[in-house]
Amino acid sequence: MKKTDPCPCCSGKSYGECCNFFLGGATPALTAEQLMRSRYTAFTLEKAHYLVETHHAQSRKQDELKALKKSFKGMMWTGLEIVATQAGAETDSEGEVEFVAHFKHFGKAGRLHERSRFNKEKGQWFYVDGDILSDA
Ligand SMILES: [Zn+2]
Repeated sequence: MKKTDPCPCCSGKSYGECCNFFLGGATPALTAEQLMRSRYTAFTLEKAHYLVETHHAQSRKQDELKALKKSFKGMMWTGLEIVATQAGAETDSEGEVEFVAHFKHFGKAGRLHERSRFNKEKGQWFYVDGDILSDA
């Protein structure tokens, strides 16, 4: 991924002006939505370590790194839409982000509709957990 490429999180910005700040460790995400976007981008770029580091310790699994690496197989993320956000601003310590992520799994198109919860501790946002929403 070049810094001038469009950011995978579909923000409309270039990667160098968007999720690269967070994935590169230059700055922590300021809002829950930024963390959500950067985690999506980390999935597209298969940055498993970033995904583990930004997963809240409370809900992180022991073998998460291994499980993530396994889950990358055959998976191609093709787009992200943020549906709604609740709190999660710079001044908040909790937030929720509802999103739809599009993917192809071994060539078969699908979508993940989820409402994720985020907590901020010591100035850093973490993904806690999420509810899968049905697309009815
Ligand atoms: Zn981005």
